[in-house]
Amino acid sequence: MFARVLVANRGEIAVRIIRACRELGIRSVAVYSDVDRAALHVRLADEAYPIGEAPSRASYLVVEKIIGAARYSGCDAIHPGYGFLAENPALARPCAKANIKFIGPSPEAMERLGSKTAARLIAKEIGVLTVPGTLAPIESTQELAEVARKTGFPIVLKAVAGGGGKGMRVVTKESDLDSAWRDASSEAQNAFGDGRMYLEKYLEKPRHIEIQVLGDEHGNMVYLGERECSVQRRHQKVIEECPSPVMTAELRAAMGVAAVKLARAGKYTNAGTVEFLVDADRNFYFLEMNTRLQVEHPVTEIVTSLDIVKLQIRIAAGETLPFTQKDVTLRGHAIECRIYAEDPDNNFFPSPGKITNYATPSGPGIRLDDGVYEGWTVPNEYDPMLGKLIAWGSDRAEAMGRMRRALREYQAGGIKTNVRLFERILANRDFINGSVYTRWLDDFLAHAGTALQLTTVGTAADLARDNAAAIAIAMWHSRSSARQPSVASDETTQPVSRWKLESRLDQLGGIGRG
Ligand code: ADP
Repeated sequence: MFARVLVANRGEIAVRIIRACRELGIRSVAVYSDVDRAALHVRLADEAYPIGEAPSRASYLVVEKIIGAARYSGCDAIHPGYGFLAENPALARPCAKANIKFIGPSPEAMERLGSKTAARLIAKEIGVLTVPGTLAPIESTQELAEVARKTGFPIVLKAVAGGGGKGMRVVTKESDLDSAWRDASSEAQNAFGDGRMYLEKYLEKPRHIEIQVLGDEHGNMVYLGERECSVQRRHQKVIEECPSPVMTAELRAAMGVAAVKLARAGKYTNAGTVEFLVDADRNFYFLEMNTRLQVEHPVTEIVTSLDIVKLQIRIAAGETLPFTQKDVTLRGHAIECRIYAEDPDNNFFPSPGKITNYATPSGPGIRLDDGVYEGWTVPNEYDPMLGKLIAWGSDRAEAMGRMRRALREYQAGGIKTNVRLFERILANRDFINGSVYTRWLDDFLAHAGTALQLTTVGTAADLARDNAAAIAIAMWHSRSSARQPSVASDETTQPVSRWKLESRLDQLGGIGRG
């Protein structure tokens, strides 16, 4: 086993990895930028080293500084977390040269499966259905028009190097194709330094369901059930669950086998996630693979009773998977809410600043993976996620009840958070019934805009007609400013997370997303 692990990340995920190290008896080494000197991950680690100025391009994204800190402190492994350099072979590769183990897949497997188009090709070769569309970047506007016609509208243009929904455009008619292509391609060029695009059929109301895989370096590979991630805002996950409310044993087995087949075809090891879109008839289509630990891994951990981060470390240390597929069982239900310092009343704009008081939920079935504390100033240089609140119950209803209770206990003063948005979602009939799809939250927020009009110009009778969820929405809005959350299709108005962009700027040829 390793003696010392460098954690090449910050925030809640750095804290999560430090905790895993401590439980395994491994010394943890943190790195920090100037603004993170007093961050929670620095406080909790056994040692910490400064790596430069606040912008991640000057600190968390500089491979030489990360490797230099690992060498200086005598680390024998690096855990990259997610985002930053996690999916970048430019960190994984020099690690091997420096005789430092990268806790993740090999750089070659990362390249084979981390590139969206390369992974689509592998999926096709091994007979795993992909979302219909092109398997290689599109070369010309003429080719674009031809494949779009052949695929049939609506289509979605996607950046080969894409991530975080950037460089993605839904196109419903041919006359919009060229301008959407130009926009998306230049957005991708700016964000990732790679403007290459490909095309997919845009599925109307799919669900996003992903499979967690775990493979050791001795040829053993398992899947750890699924995560339902259909509650998204503008293609970004907001709530995740395990199991999916629509899952059947047959579908889980079919998706699990497909995920393992794909990972094996790419000679993948360690933890990874194979993402699928699932249609109303339960057909599933491969979307992409994330070659790293996912933000939403805790829901799988809770339901499988496995510690994925510790398993990642043990696998990287050369251990054999301590169980087989038949030992993997799911128990109960877990739901995760991603809590952000952002302002739902102002187009979800990031809301960094000092946390003046912080009260966190606890009690039965509650887990909070956070990276902040009272008195800490959330910097504006990075992704403004404060942490993840996870609720477990013996069934979905109990998990939802515990989550509602925990959300009421959660308080972070001095900054805005999206906590009340979760209270509204958890009061909604569709969410309670599990009948959601990937654009459901965007539609829900558009409907909330209508509810605002009801409270300002409507009558009591208007409100009484609606259900309790709509009343909750209306109350929320009556407390908010006149400005409504925008759900316009113009994705360029979306505030861009500097953390997400910077983590991609440095990456090669479409490998990696945060
Ligand atoms: P990124 O890597 O930028 O996050 P993904 O390819 O993972 O992009 O897609 C993110 C989300 O966008 C999906 O979860 C889904 O909601 C939506 N999406 C992507 N491709 C399609 C498609 N072909 N049809 C419908 N929705 C899609």
